[in-house]
Amino acid sequence: MIYPETKLPSVGETIFSTMSALAAEKQAINLSQGFPDYAGPQSLLEGVGRAIVSGNNQYAPLPGVPKLLQQIQSKVKAYYGRELDVANEVTVTPGATEAIYSAITSVIRPGEEVILFDPAYDCYQPAIEINGGVPVYITLLPPTFSVDWNAVASAITPKTRMIIINTPHNPTGSTLTHADMEALATIVRDTNILIISDEVYEHLVFDDQPHQSVNLHPELTKRAFIVSSFGKTYHVTGWRTGYCIAPEPLTKELRKVHQYVTFTSHTPIQCAIADFMEEQPDYPRTLPQFFTQKRDRLAKGLANSRFKLLDSKGTYFQLVDYTAISDLPDDQFVLKLLDDAGVAAIPLSPFYSNGQQTGCIRLCFAKADDTLDKAIERLCQI
Ligand code: GLN
Repeated sequence: MIYPETKLPSVGETIFSTMSALAAEKQAINLSQGFPDYAGPQSLLEGVGRAIVSGNNQYAPLPGVPKLLQQIQSKVKAYYGRELDVANEVTVTPGATEAIYSAITSVIRPGEEVILFDPAYDCYQPAIEINGGVPVYITLLPPTFSVDWNAVASAITPKTRMIIINTPHNPTGSTLTHADMEALATIVRDTNILIISDEVYEHLVFDDQPHQSVNLHPELTKRAFIVSSFGKTYHVTGWRTGYCIAPEPLTKELRKVHQYVTFTSHTPIQCAIADFMEEQPDYPRTLPQFFTQKRDRLAKGLANSRFKLLDSKGTYFQLVDYTAISDLPDDQFVLKLLDDAGVAAIPLSPFYSNGQQTGCIRLCFAKADDTLDKAIERLCQI
């Protein structure tokens, strides 16, 4: 047999690729995969050309372009009051997904357990399994998708090596509170459990809540890989640039993997982001208002529809309950929606390890007002 048995039997094409391809094929309004349909800041975009023309076209240093590392240091100080030893604690990666993969690969050994929440963003489980790790799921249920920390505490075994948290949470739009972070700290205290904190939507938090970054919790930072993304913050998801903050011993291990997965990240993109961060350090502070307007526009528009909206406290996603319209499973309902309304959405069940049906689908509101209005009109006719 030439072809090996698959190492990832439960993995297929991501739901994001599937739905975006269907949206393109059917010329639907694409509220499925999370990406803006408008441009990022002009001076940021122009910065890439400037960086290329002025000669920033060779390999960047492994941890990242020095100016970008410096900007990350200033940003983390300004937003979270944390002082980073940037040379030893920050690594720029081509996208948050690579940071998460490299972090998991660098520490998880076969048989070790990783606790994650169900539903979970789809890149965690394959990274755990390809390393022989065992995912252990704690279920989050609508409408709040809040964490039952007693269930987490009961799931801890001598084999537990890591807990993966994600706030604001994709796909549900829920957020963790200060009390959640305290509960997490209590559970991991006096253990060797590591944390991955996926904070790629760190600046997309609404209703005047503070983002509960692990950067704010010194007790947790000692054991955490904190992952962030420039794509979400600056509306440039295709630039595939993110970073990982971790204490020196963890960063050392992470870089051992990162250097052989991608070696470094794209140089001119790093230069452009660094220049823009220097020019407009407060840009991320404009995002809550920017996205609240979009979230509320969608909510107001759908108020007279048969969809019921759940709370979206962060991210650029809105869950809607469609059970007043159809009793189809969500993966079939999104196909119906595509055909009947010409709107592409993401079903929730692919994010549950057991394919749980919640009667909810996810809509992305990082779209021009005009796109949202057209989608609203169509969704109201369903
Ligand atoms: N993070 C994006 C989303 O949730 C998708 C990214 C991807 O397609 N891998 O929609």
